[in-house]
Amino acid sequence: MSDTNPNDTAPRRDFIRELVIDDIATGRFGRAPATRFPPEPNGFLHMGHAKSICLNFGIAREFGGTCNLRFDDTNPLTEDMKYVEAIKRDIRWLGFDWDGEYFASDYFEKLYEIAERLVEQGKAYVDSQSEEEIRTNRGTVTTPGIPGPYRDRSPEENLDLLRRMKAGEFADGAHVLRAKIDLAHPNMIMRDPLLMRIRRDAHHYRRGTEWKIYPLYDFAHGLSDAIEGITRSLCTLEFKDSRDIYDWLVEAAGYNNPPTQIEFARLELDYTVLSKRKLLRLVNEGHVNGWDDPRMPTIAGLRRRGVRPEAIRAFADTIGVARKDARVEIASFEHTVRNDLNMEVPRVLCVLNPLKVVITNYPEGQVDMLEGQNYPHDVPKTGTREVPFSRELWVDRDDFMEDPPKKFYRLSPGREVRLRFAYFITCTDVIKDADGNVTELHCTYDPETRSGNAPDGRKVQGTIHWVSAQHALDCEVRLYDRLFTQPDPDDVPEGEDFLSTLNPTSLVVIPNAKIEPSVASDPIGSRYQFERTGYFMSEPEDSTPEKLVFNRIVSLRDSWAKESKKGI
Ligand code: ATP
Ligand code: MG
Repeated sequence: MSDTNPNDTAPRRDFIRELVIDDIATGRFGRAPATRFPPEPNGFLHMGHAKSICLNFGIAREFGGTCNLRFDDTNPLTEDMKYVEAIKRDIRWLGFDWDGEYFASDYFEKLYEIAERLVEQGKAYVDSQSEEEIRTNRGTVTTPGIPGPYRDRSPEENLDLLRRMKAGEFADGAHVLRAKIDLAHPNMIMRDPLLMRIRRDAHHYRRGTEWKIYPLYDFAHGLSDAIEGITRSLCTLEFKDSRDIYDWLVEAAGYNNPPTQIEFARLELDYTVLSKRKLLRLVNEGHVNGWDDPRMPTIAGLRRRGVRPEAIRAFADTIGVARKDARVEIASFEHTVRNDLNMEVPRVLCVLNPLKVVITNYPEGQVDMLEGQNYPHDVPKTGTREVPFSRELWVDRDDFMEDPPKKFYRLSPGREVRLRFAYFITCTDVIKDADGNVTELHCTYDPETRSGNAPDGRKVQGTIHWVSAQHALDCEVRLYDRLFTQPDPDDVPEGEDFLSTLNPTSLVVIPNAKIEPSVASDPIGSRYQFERTGYFMSEPEDSTPEKLVFNRIVSLRDSWAKESKKGI
């Protein structure tokens, strides 16, 4: 691995790395650790893949080994070049680069050769039972399978049939190639697993219509690892039962010192789904605006929302690698994102829900240029900007209450508050329309408090954000919330599916927020903390020079935790 990341220097330890350290110490494989990341190009990568990427590429980087990118593209019905491109882009963006770039579909010839050899050795046969018969005759976990009528075909007959399958002489389902292992094996997968099937008319996105038969996952996967000289094949726990066939195949194919499989826990995140199949449904059925919708747990969605790759890598470190599946709280991910942004991004003032304030004792036409600190939270980082102040301002409606409880330290009639980077103001009048809605506040300011403090030492309890009405830019703000209303979206009554738990307010659009003018000169895609509100990034696709659009990356606090504490 060529690139190193200065933030990723702390040594990591987990059961997989312990095994790798042991491999190196004992010289078990006689070669440097070799891993691979093997996505199927049938969708975009998500957070679960990010965990696997950080693990596979991380091990190669930490132990001086290699990590290949291999597209596991053996299913012609679902795969597409656009997914190959998206996957490469997302891995690079995460900060990783691969050693070899391979496609399982380039191994079709090699795999076919191996299939012929297995047939010749009597280790595989062509079965002509129907799918249904194969299933029934395989037995159950408590009863052994029974041999079908084709199990004892001669190698010559099998070879002839296999060649004719390959030549496209038979329709889909007429025959399959099976390994001849043990129909009473306690591991059901070992009861003569299917190796190749006919897909005579399928169009493969890379191989076109050249191939009439296709390898199944178990047949292609371990052998692809062996062909590439992988040492440890890291996969998620649901493949545990495939380990026996993995070992059987690499041995039967004659590989010396073959790779071995290690399983680790899948990442499952609360309030979202990490399955390409389900994410594809969200996209295809229009519940989100594409794979890179900022609400999606995809790498592309998180990137568009404004999450930095550093945060995703830090999260992968935080959750670690375990042997048992466990759901991870989304709050833990959001916490990592806040931590990552907190020290990195400048602060600006933006009013999401504007309410006009007129400073009645401030001269009309006058403008004060105040100094705003960009990094008030991080003293070594400097930088200030001009923040214009004038007679008419916008403040947030949520920062005003006409009849507030005692502990409300923001604007209310007769109370004094500090405006961030500016003066103390006191609300003197509340202007309402005919329906009694508050339309405007009249306030006075104290010119002596320009520094943010009163010369007489009097204190104010609250500081609120604001923007000058005449200088503010209109912007659209998109507030994203959890995509689903419950931690496990799949936990639904009979007859319903995960879509019934979609959160109807996962996107709230504020069409007319008011932001300070300093952001106008920043490149699109800049990130900020809107003081007192949250972290935001200017939307890379939809912002225009006339109107900026901002995505909320994450709120400042976990509002759901607050609500549950209040018992709402
Ligand atoms: P999905 O169910 O989302 O389609 P998959 O396993 O079928 O996932 P692949 O593209 O085949 O997706 O996976 C590529 C690699 O990423 C595999 O090694 C797989 O184990 C790993 N991976 C996929 N999902 C997760 C997850 N949630 N947590 C950890 N690793 C994952
Ligand atoms: Mg898969």
